[in-house]
Amino acid sequence: KRKLLVAGNWKMNGTRSLVKEFIKDFDTKFLSSMDVALCPPSILIAEFSEGRIPVGAQDVSACDNGAHTGDLSVSMLNDFECKYCIVGHSERRDDHGESSELVAEKAAKLIEAGITPIICCGEPLSVREAGKVNEYVEAQLKAVFDRIPVSQLGDAVIAYEPIWAIGTGVTASPQEAQDVHAFIRQFIASYDGKLADSMQILYGGSVKPDNAKELFGQADIDGGLIGGASLKAKDFNAICQAA
Ligand code: 13P
Repeated sequence: KRKLLVAGNWKMNGTRSLVKEFIKDFDTKFLSSMDVALCPPSILIAEFSEGRIPVGAQDVSACDNGAHTGDLSVSMLNDFECKYCIVGHSERRDDHGESSELVAEKAAKLIEAGITPIICCGEPLSVREAGKVNEYVEAQLKAVFDRIPVSQLGDAVIAYEPIWAIGTGVTASPQEAQDVHAFIRQFIASYDGKLADSMQILYGGSVKPDNAKELFGQADIDGGLIGGASLKAKDFNAICQAA
């Protein structure tokens, strides 16, 4: 099976002192057996340089530099040794009107800069109720796969995060998640079979210490993108332990 990745997304939470506490309490033994990443708000990225936990950003600009107030470039992320960057999180798509095409541009920039994009997709509840999950997720990912040649997608990661499961305490059942993950892998295989076998596809949405093991045990789930439960090292450790 593929190596598992457990990535934390702190969203707009955390302080410098929380970073210190997290670094102290995170069990570094996990770093040798699996992939781990922590994506704090960008203002806290530098604080993580004291620890050994690979760090990531939560977003990046599709532009190189210049007059883009408030944005960060891939070279800035590289300057702070970011290994990962989340793109296309549903909260950015909603809060900032990001299109799948823009998400694809951002992913392309990251790959060019040697940073692993964690490309998010996932449907709102209305789409699930209408029975259109696969079509919805496929359209989100198609923008990426049409923009970036498969030969360059080797290091990319996909995260499936059903919006109705984010921050709600309602997880997709392991089977519901697995069904979409299998569909995504099949979709990737329509571009490149080898890439489909190797690409890590994470599940996100109310992953907690008590449900992580069953989710990560599914054939096509290669780890998780963890929101709320990544703010406490104790919970994050327990989720890594489940991987
Ligand atoms: P929660 O784990 O808080 O539901 O958030 C999931 C998420 O959006 C991670 O990116």
